[in-house]
Amino acid sequence: RYQKDSRQVVQYFEEDLKKQEEIRLHVISSIDKAIQNQWLRVYYQPLIHIQSGKPAGFEALSRWEDPVYGLLTPDKFVPSLENLRLIYKVDLNVLSTYGREIQKIQKIGLEPLPISFNISRTDLESGIDLYGEIERIVNALAIDKNLIHIEITESALNGDSLIMPQAIEHFHRMGFEVWMDDFGSGYSSLNVLKDYPFDVIKIDMEFMKKFDERSKQIVRSICEMATSLGTRTVAEGVETKEQLQFLQQIGCTYAQGYLFSKPKPVQEFFSLLPKRPSNY
Ligand code: C2E
Ligand code: MG
Ligand code: MG
Ligand code: MG
Repeated sequence: RYQKDSRQVVQYFEEDLKKQEEIRLHVISSIDKAIQNQWLRVYYQPLIHIQSGKPAGFEALSRWEDPVYGLLTPDKFVPSLENLRLIYKVDLNVLSTYGREIQKIQKIGLEPLPISFNISRTDLESGIDLYGEIERIVNALAIDKNLIHIEITESALNGDSLIMPQAIEHFHRMGFEVWMDDFGSGYSSLNVLKDYPFDVIKIDMEFMKKFDERSKQIVRSICEMATSLGTRTVAEGVETKEQLQFLQQIGCTYAQGYLFSKPKPVQEFFSLLPKRPSNY
C-alpha cells in the first residue's frame, strides 16, 4: 500500500514539473504575442496613508491571462523572463498601460493617483536603452512623472557592480521617485540604507507574516531609522487590524495588504479616486 501511494506522489510531482516546464516554454516563446493581444494585464493594489486612512496610490502588478493556461501569477512568468533578460517587456507594458489608464480616468472626471511599478535588475543588463524607452513612453502618453515611482527590490543591489547605484541616480535625474522593495529580505540592509538615497522603503512582508515581538521590534527600528533619514515607509502584507494599529503607533507611513484589498483591475478602484476639480 505504502509503495503504491509513494509512487503516486512521485507521479503527481512529475506531472507538476512537466506542466511547469510547459508553461515556462510557452511564456518565453509568446511574450510578444501576449503583449500584442493584451494577455498581460495590470492589477493595482492600494497603499493606504496610515495617519489619514486615505488611499495614497497603488502598486502595479502584472498578471498573464492566458487563453490556454488561464490566469498566471508573476511566479509563473517573471523568473523565466528574467532569466532571458526579457522581463523589461513586461515592465514597460505596465508603464504604458497605466499611461493609457490615466487618460481614461481623466476623461471620466477623476484624478489618477500615483503608482509604483517593479523593475528587475536584468532590465538594466539586457542591452536595451531602458531610460530612453521609459522617457519615450512617458512623453508619448504625456504622463506626469510625479504619478510614477520605480520599485527596485533589495536583492537587485547584491554584488559590487555600479549598475544599480547609477540606475538610481539616473531615475532621480529623470524625475522619478525610487522605492526599495522587500527591505529586510536580503543581507545587505544597512549598507543599502547608507549608500542609496531611496525615497521610500517597503518593508518585506515576512515581518507581518511572523509578527512576533522580535519582528515587531525590527519593524519599529526600520521605521525610526527611515524617519530620521527623511525616508517614507510602506509595510507590505498587512492583513489584520492589529498589525495596522501597531504600524500607526510606530509611525509607519503607508500600509499595503489584503486588509484593504487584493490587487485588482483599475476600474475596481474608481470609487477611491478623487474627483477632478472643475474649472468654474
Ligand atoms: P512585490 O513587488 O513584493 O509585490 C507584492 C506581492 O505581495 C504581490 O504578489 C501582492 O499580490 C502580494 N501581497 C500584497 N498584499 C499581500 C498580503 O496582505 N498578503 C499576502 N500573502 N500577499 C500580499 P504578486 O502580485 O504575486 O507579485 C509577486 C512578485 O512578482 C512581486 O513582488 C514582484 O517582485 C514581481 N512582479 C509582479 N509584477 C511584476 C512586473 O510587472 N514586473 C516585474 N519585474 N516584477 C513583477
Ligand atoms: Mg513591488
Ligand atoms: Mg514587495
Ligand atoms: Mg517581492
